[in-house]
Amino acid sequence: MINKNKHNREKAKEALSADNRRDFIKKAGLGALGMGGMLFLPDEKVIAQNTKKTFKTGPKIKQINVTPIAFTDPPVLNAAGLHAPYALRNIVEVITDDNISGISEMHGGIANTNALEAAKGLLIGKDPFQLNEIKRTLQTHFGKEEAQKRGDAAYWNNGQLSTVFGAVEVACLDIMGKITGRPVVDLLGGKMREQVPFAAYLFYKYEGAGGKLGFKTDNNAKGWAAVRQAKALDPAGIVAEAKGMCEEFGFKSIKLKGGVFEPQKEVDAMFALREAFGPDVPLRVDPNALWKVETGIKYGKMMDGLLEYLEDPVRSQENMAKVRKEIKTPLATNMCTTAFEHIPSSIALGSEDIILTDHHYWGGLKASMDVGRICEVFGRGISMHSNSHLGISLAAMVHLGGALPYLTTALDTHYPWQSEEVITGGRLKFEEGSVQVPQGPGLGVELDKKALALLHKNYLDSGLTKRDDAKEMQKVQPGWVFKNDRW
Ligand SMILES: [Mg+2]
Repeated sequence: MINKNKHNREKAKEALSADNRRDFIKKAGLGALGMGGMLFLPDEKVIAQNTKKTFKTGPKIKQINVTPIAFTDPPVLNAAGLHAPYALRNIVEVITDDNISGISEMHGGIANTNALEAAKGLLIGKDPFQLNEIKRTLQTHFGKEEAQKRGDAAYWNNGQLSTVFGAVEVACLDIMGKITGRPVVDLLGGKMREQVPFAAYLFYKYEGAGGKLGFKTDNNAKGWAAVRQAKALDPAGIVAEAKGMCEEFGFKSIKLKGGVFEPQKEVDAMFALREAFGPDVPLRVDPNALWKVETGIKYGKMMDGLLEYLEDPVRSQENMAKVRKEIKTPLATNMCTTAFEHIPSSIALGSEDIILTDHHYWGGLKASMDVGRICEVFGRGISMHSNSHLGISLAAMVHLGGALPYLTTALDTHYPWQSEEVITGGRLKFEEGSVQVPQGPGLGVELDKKALALLHKNYLDSGLTKRDDAKEMQKVQPGWVFKNDRW
């Protein structure tokens, strides 16, 4: 091979020294390239001989299936109200013309199901490796996404382009991994850690197991399954929940979803957790932007020295910046900086210290790697936000967590709150609070078609078509309404 390359270089030099330089360029078919590149560029035949392979294009997308599912979710509380007995999700399967299947999980609800259904015809025939083209095609369908400010909404989707593209991208990366025989983490630049750490994600909750049992409980439940259905409405209940979850999963950090009770009660729960777990277990609380600026400053100061970070105490980048100036605790967000278009004002205002990325709404795994780079450049930390999800999303989060060069804190996950699965082999395992980066090609998890059919039936039977925590809360507390600055 070396001789052949040398021969090529000599041939190129000879040609360039002669008068027929233009003619050589024409013959070499390299008219558009600079000379530097030309001297060292082996021709296609040489590469083919070197690699013993011929150039080929990827397979084409033949079919896309989107299946809405519903799975059991206990009655946990948050700023937006109460979780319904079932959480919703859409399962996406992209199949190539050589029958390679790539999978992903997308936010639940009929609006997302319909968005992908409406766009999928445009993706048939595309090469799953051509993600830039796929994104451009989706952009022509959905329109260029303007960065949405959260405004007064309890929760929101960043927009259908980033949601749908994020789901398609993960499935295509799964396909690429299967074709190349490499795990997705390698397609994101390679593994920076073997184990990805997660935090215990605590919720205030009413008694109940969710699903068919609703507010009732299963008397035969043991261990975490028993704790998961118990009520947790005060500091003692939160500590008991934390102990049950940490015992089962081995988590080394703890997060409490706040914004449910008046701030002093939630702050008391954080001090109770410190008392129970000691100073070596990092703590965080997320009031979901329900506090006014003066409340954020008052309780933020009270928790200075207690917390690893305070997540979204107040609404908007401007208000976050005001609180951040007054307290020592770092601020994290998945509410005020949620899209690339929010980055310039985030930097100008200094609205947070840590961005909690989420590939489901930042536009995929590669986009989330870009968020990591931005955080590195601007001195932000990065971690991960979560929503109710199953194992396909968890696997994708673990590949991303495995690839991010500077992961500063344990990631969020709702996974312990779920009991069902849509992947073969059952639920993914946590060891010492971490999940091992899957070894197999692609995401390393496969769709269980039988489980998918069952969870789709759950969806149809549940009668739910979108998440509405306020409506669920009104069943318990008639007249309850969401307020975006309750305290
Ligand atoms: Mg949050």
